[in-house]
Amino acid sequence: MPATKKPGNRQQDSGRSTPGSLPGGSIGSDEFAVGRYGKLFNSFNIDSEGRISAVELGVRLRESGILESDPRVADVWAELRHAVGDKGQTWIDLDGFIGLCKNGGGVVEKSIRGDFVIPDFAALQAEISTIFEGLQSVHGGHVADYIPQLGRVDPEKFGIALCTVDGQRFAIGDADNLFCVQSVCKPINYCLTLEEHGADIVHQHVGREPSGRGFNELTLNSDGLPHNPMINSGAIMCCSLLRPAWEMADRFDHVAETWRKLAGGGAVGFNNAVYLSERRTADRNFALGYFMREHQSFPTGTDLMETLEFYFQCCSIEVDAQALSVVAASLANGGVNPLTGERIFSADTVRKCLSLMSSCGMYDYSGEFAFVIGLPAKSGVSGGLMIVVPGVMGVCVWSPRLDAMGNSVRGVAFCKELVNRFNFHVYDSFAAGEVSGKRDPRRGKIEEEVASTIRLLWAASQGDLDVVRIALATGKDPNSMDYDRRTALHLAASEGHLDVVRYLLDRGASPTVQDRWGGTPLSDAQRGAKGSVVTLLESAAALVV
Ligand code: GLU
Repeated sequence: MPATKKPGNRQQDSGRSTPGSLPGGSIGSDEFAVGRYGKLFNSFNIDSEGRISAVELGVRLRESGILESDPRVADVWAELRHAVGDKGQTWIDLDGFIGLCKNGGGVVEKSIRGDFVIPDFAALQAEISTIFEGLQSVHGGHVADYIPQLGRVDPEKFGIALCTVDGQRFAIGDADNLFCVQSVCKPINYCLTLEEHGADIVHQHVGREPSGRGFNELTLNSDGLPHNPMINSGAIMCCSLLRPAWEMADRFDHVAETWRKLAGGGAVGFNNAVYLSERRTADRNFALGYFMREHQSFPTGTDLMETLEFYFQCCSIEVDAQALSVVAASLANGGVNPLTGERIFSADTVRKCLSLMSSCGMYDYSGEFAFVIGLPAKSGVSGGLMIVVPGVMGVCVWSPRLDAMGNSVRGVAFCKELVNRFNFHVYDSFAAGEVSGKRDPRRGKIEEEVASTIRLLWAASQGDLDVVRIALATGKDPNSMDYDRRTALHLAASEGHLDVVRYLLDRGASPTVQDRWGGTPLSDAQRGAKGSVVTLLESAAALVV
């Protein structure tokens, strides 16, 4: 067990990094940073030289779901690898640690604090792994074989990946095998049309009702329009709306670039063989195109052949499950990629898209899916399924065997398991406490309340006035207590932090409040013989009638 040393004890620190540890530069002089990050640093095992292990930090990051490929912490991981590679020296001093925390744009700090949407990420990973293992024995359904490229896919392939709105990631199985997105391109193209034209114009050409008919059926609504953007006719219509004046190559680039942004550096490609096959076997899609042209549903000037080609190209975009989970997470996050922080779609666009995914995303199973699963999702004939848990995470399941409706058998089974275990169905919230056996892995209100109380009390005990200030500024009651009825004032008084005591008193903290043993902030200060704190509390207590 390494010896521990408090990093706050700065007189022993030279301000320079020791050999084999990460350099900290001038950070050592920043007392605010020392106060803020020193406590996090103390939560690690600290060696006799006041350093923590790079390996332990790496483990903590991974456990919270922050992976090496996360672009937000690329520099952090590079530094960690450098530290590990340096003659086996794997140590980071406080300055180096502060540098890493600052580099990570807050991710490292949040990771160590457990301050993510899924605080216990290891528990969620364990559940997803259990579901994955359980579904290995499911062999029902058949792979799509209308084109040879799909018919040849190994039916046993199975991958699951998820990404939370905080960028916590987990993947299991064949999560890095590429597959073509097929119908999963439809929600993305719909979002792009909304961004380009706005909903009023888009919905002059495509409806927003479930069709109640097959996904590629030769049918239009009573206005002569495709029923919605999630079925073939509606998706072809959306393609006609996407940058119609541009060259074909540029139109495709526009879509592919959007996929790359949504995937945040994940694998996005194009399968030319799929595209060529799609084009050769597309009688129904051609028929749909002519049918819509006959009804004058397309915008004026639409080139039908180009539009269909463009649609086949969009279906032939390839991703792996990890990348698709990040795409889904970008939708779960209101249009902002959690890994890059880039806004790709407006929140309004995403709201509209998720609404239609909820009602129309799962072919003829959409109504049942909304009833049983209660989450927006979109599936494709390649066996890919993108599920969005709004405000929480995106999930991708890829398993090529399809049921009679065209949805991945294991994908749908996964969703059932997921909402049986967790209260993710959008209407589970109405039945809080009654939904037997369902857990809420999200950072909840009670946990948040407890966490903010602990944060305030901890800051008061450490004399961290900045954190105390922030806590009260964000509405925390200065008299918040823990289960021993100890308040921030008790703790600041015990430790003799005069500035914090004064600040708390000024903000309404009670000097006479009793903890469960009858102790007051004043008696705590007296026990510790904290002279000036005692005087201050005595005069404050005298004012209390
Ligand atoms: N390329 C397929 C088609 O248009 C997409 C089918 C799908 O995934 O639903 O027929």
